[in-house]
Amino acid sequence: MRLVFIGPPGAGKGTQAEKIVARYQLAHLSTGDMLRAARAAGTELGRKADQYMSAGQLVPDDLIIALIRQRLEQPDCRGGYLLDGFPRTIAQAEALDLMLAEKGTPLDVVLELQVDDEAIKQRLAGRGRADDKPEVIAQRLVAYHQQTAPLLDYYGRAGLLRSIDGMGTIDEVFARVRSVLDPLAG
Ligand code: AMP
Repeated sequence: MRLVFIGPPGAGKGTQAEKIVARYQLAHLSTGDMLRAARAAGTELGRKADQYMSAGQLVPDDLIIALIRQRLEQPDCRGGYLLDGFPRTIAQAEALDLMLAEKGTPLDVVLELQVDDEAIKQRLAGRGRADDKPEVIAQRLVAYHQQTAPLLDYYGRAGLLRSIDGMGTIDEVFARVRSVLDPLAG
């Protein structure tokens, strides 16, 4: 199964992503995790990405697309993967479509986790990551609504979008995830 997981920052996407990759045995491709690793390792990519990440802004598309292109070549992606935090812009989605069309491996589903902004602000305020300061959170939400939310239309038109309610306990939300993904799992 090849799936894209979309949701605002703080929607509980990371937690659900862990459960999804375990249940369906998928590689977990989180661009946020890759960028944080690059930053911690002090690579050129990490240094370039840091200025955007710490301001709550999206890292430029060309850097992210190159990162994902390389990652998709790794052998563990052959058995299916979950894209977590990518694509975040229409340009990234179009680049992904092209890459996957070249490989003959289209996406199976795009899963959206829906959580309203107020719930997100409360959740993120309790999390304590460096980019979780209130002003950075607000900026990340702006980036989500302006740049990432248009993907919902994009994938809706492609007939790939399935949206679920992200409110409730981890298990309640995961039951909704399973009701969408179990029928698609081979
Ligand atoms: P995340 O952990 O997915 O919330 O990502 C943390 C930060 O990394 C984001 O606020 C962005 O600055 C950057 N980032 C992660 N994924 C992407 C992406 N696909 N496009 C642009 N920036 C990204």
